[in-house]
Amino acid sequence: MDLPEKIRKAASVIRENHGRGMAFTGAGVSVESGIPPFRGRGGLWNTMDPSFIELTHFHADPEGCWAKIREVFYDHWGKAEPNEAHRVLAEWMRTGFLEGIVTQNIDALHQRAGAENVIEFHGTMDELLCLQCSSRYTPDRELIDQERPTCPKCGGLLKPDFVFFSEGIPKDAFDASFRMAENCAFIIVIGTSGEVMPACEIPRIAKRHGAVLIEVNPEPSSFTRTVTDIFLQGPATAIMRQLRDEVEAP
Ligand code: NAD
Repeated sequence: MDLPEKIRKAASVIRENHGRGMAFTGAGVSVESGIPPFRGRGGLWNTMDPSFIELTHFHADPEGCWAKIREVFYDHWGKAEPNEAHRVLAEWMRTGFLEGIVTQNIDALHQRAGAENVIEFHGTMDELLCLQCSSRYTPDRELIDQERPTCPKCGGLLKPDFVFFSEGIPKDAFDASFRMAENCAFIIVIGTSGEVMPACEIPRIAKRHGAVLIEVNPEPSSFTRTVTDIFLQGPATAIMRQLRDEVEAP
């Protein structure tokens, strides 16, 4: 089956199951917004040691870790804007095709594209959490430009509220994501290698409960040959644009 035929097939699954779909996204959906993935071509870990977002290391050297966090996440990623793939998903939430989005991303680009009901499986860089009193703050430059960002209320150390290596998944996000996966009729999986546990279980759970799995990725992933039903090979923006046009075709 060629790509246009697969796009038509995926579009009919989406139309026929209006309101019973979910999206599951990874780093790849934000690549065309200028945010690199962690692994693979252009991946961040090819040039950087990831220990600055490992919890024990962060506690041992908060100033050193914050210098890299500030540079990578707030100086660089903070300038990114949502792309067309984020916008199509947001539109499908508004028009009711999708019930929700589970994202592994921490960049908040789905919400900035206007999507509601976004479950951030790995938390967000859009909030800072005080490790002492649990107060939360928006990451204003006044806070993150401090050598050791501290809580204005209690003086505790602030940490971006995303999941660091060796940290657990927030329980609410975990439960809601798996519930959504168990109940959806189709799942669109975009830009994820499927190597990060336990997030990578979500498409498999959906499939096990009978969902049709549509995958968008320029490269095959760990899902492609095992659970994917319709593989739309290509970059997220071009594929989602074609898929949107086909879903909306009269
Ligand atoms: P990953 O880095 O393991 O894999 C990225 C995937 O994106 C690959 O399969 C690659 O082929 C695909 N890809 C590359 N360009 C693409 C494009 N233009 N369109 C569609 N797909 C494209 O990413 P992952 O599976 O999400 O796992 C990495 C973990 O790191 C995630 O859990 C996430 O928390 C975190 N992360 C987040 C961001 C972000 O917030 N934007 C960025 C990097 C990593």
